[in-house]
Amino acid sequence: IKREKVKSLLEKNEFNRAVTVMGWVRTFRNNQFIAINDGSCMGNIQIVVDFNNTPEELLKRITTGAAIAVTGTIVESLGKGQKVDIKAESIEILGDSDPEKFPLQPKKHSLEFLREIAHLRFRTNTFNAIFKVRHALAFAVHQFYNERGFVYMHTPIITASDAEGAGEMFRVTTLDPENPPRTEDGKVDFSEDFFAKATNLTVSGQLEGELAAMAFGQIYTFGPTFRAENSNTTRHLAEFWMIEPEVAFADLEDNMVLAEDMLKYLIDYALKNCKEELEFLNSRLLEEEKSKPQNERSELSLIDKLNFCLTNDFQRLTYTEAIAILKSSKPNQKKQFKYLIDEWGADLQSEHERFLVEKHFKKPVILIDYPADIKSFYMRQNEPDAQGRKTVAAMDILFPGIGEIIGGSQREERLDKLTQRMEDLNIPQEELWWFLDTRRFGSAPHSGFGLGFERMVLFVTGMTNIRDVIAFPRFPRNAEF
Ligand code: ATP
Ligand code: MG
Ligand code: MG
Ligand code: MG
Repeated sequence: IKREKVKSLLEKNEFNRAVTVMGWVRTFRNNQFIAINDGSCMGNIQIVVDFNNTPEELLKRITTGAAIAVTGTIVESLGKGQKVDIKAESIEILGDSDPEKFPLQPKKHSLEFLREIAHLRFRTNTFNAIFKVRHALAFAVHQFYNERGFVYMHTPIITASDAEGAGEMFRVTTLDPENPPRTEDGKVDFSEDFFAKATNLTVSGQLEGELAAMAFGQIYTFGPTFRAENSNTTRHLAEFWMIEPEVAFADLEDNMVLAEDMLKYLIDYALKNCKEELEFLNSRLLEEEKSKPQNERSELSLIDKLNFCLTNDFQRLTYTEAIAILKSSKPNQKKQFKYLIDEWGADLQSEHERFLVEKHFKKPVILIDYPADIKSFYMRQNEPDAQGRKTVAAMDILFPGIGEIIGGSQREERLDKLTQRMEDLNIPQEELWWFLDTRRFGSAPHSGFGLGFERMVLFVTGMTNIRDVIAFPRFPRNAEF
């Protein structure tokens, strides 16, 4: 049998034609009207059942969540909203669903509840919309870079390098965790491990991406990234997806332009290709806003917010300028920042980032030239300022409601400066000999950044918890499904 999709039936509005649809029952009212959804869109198609001629046994099995196949005729809908219904001629139950046990009832469930049943939440309109937007954005990422002649590189997922010289890694090993082989001094003997060395899941594809950029000129990666950090926040996951372009012969200015262009391209793509989904998410948000006190309600709708980002230049400023603003500001009349910034050199907390974006400039911000000591070793060292303070050509992009969405920099291409910095920070150079080779053989200025894909999906969908924009979120104590 040829199955037709609900989406195309609702769009076409053709009548008096035989059709077969398959989907999952959302509701069954009065033994007469079944609403089914097949995932092709958020809308349901209504099936009109001739209950006098349908066996009692069958009617009982049409329950919320059950999978059914219906063959019938397309008729004009008597209800409001949709134009077409299907007058059922035969109904087959493909898979029963016990109404006592199926956790999704035909009512609005809280996001907290849906997070507990993340394996079933795709069946709701909210998650249908979110994952359609996520899909569209992922597609648009490839389209954006493809149009510009970038090469999509797959950097390794298992690696011996830790990219940042920071902890936060998931170890990968084939040794027996209970009883690993040990060297004479009692340390774990990794020479017997699969790769004959300690390995971990990648925390970033950047260092490998730099190698490829120094051959292809411009590349990007788009893959899973793993950080065993405290991800009990609404912005961090233990497993997330990152987009990392790397461009040779490009400085910080080029990097800023590329990043702003990409973010705007993605927003524009979603506005044009996810109209139905964004309108649904928008109305969902409006509903939520209504339950808040007047003064806490957002002034802009989701669509307004997206259009605003699209049509305004991002605000550029240096870390030093940002500190001056933060020192002389209070988030509102009474409150102080929780973490007071009283010294140049401190890292910004998300409350500071969000203040700059949401209260001060009221637009996305590109913050550059951070103190060298709070950024990674590979960022390009600027000339010290008049007071002798050292900064690097770093670039963070901050978005309303999100904070940091992109982290990037111009890279240090000068071998002597790079190795000096590694020495100062006690980063072993032997292990990164392959990375340093880029600086030995035809080094050139180059730049790149990392966009956290889930943070982008958060922004575009207007959702507020990162666990709601990835299908199977990974965070501490959660890896069951
Ligand atoms: P943050 O300050 O938010 O912890 P970061 O500075 O540690 O982020 P980077 O190493 O700069 O992150 O990574 C580049 C981008 O990847 C970030 O700008 C962010 O969008 C995203 N990102 C980083 N860590 C996570 C995470 N744990 N979960 C989801 N996205 C992340
Ligand atoms: Mg971090
Ligand atoms: Mg950061
Ligand atoms: Mg960062």
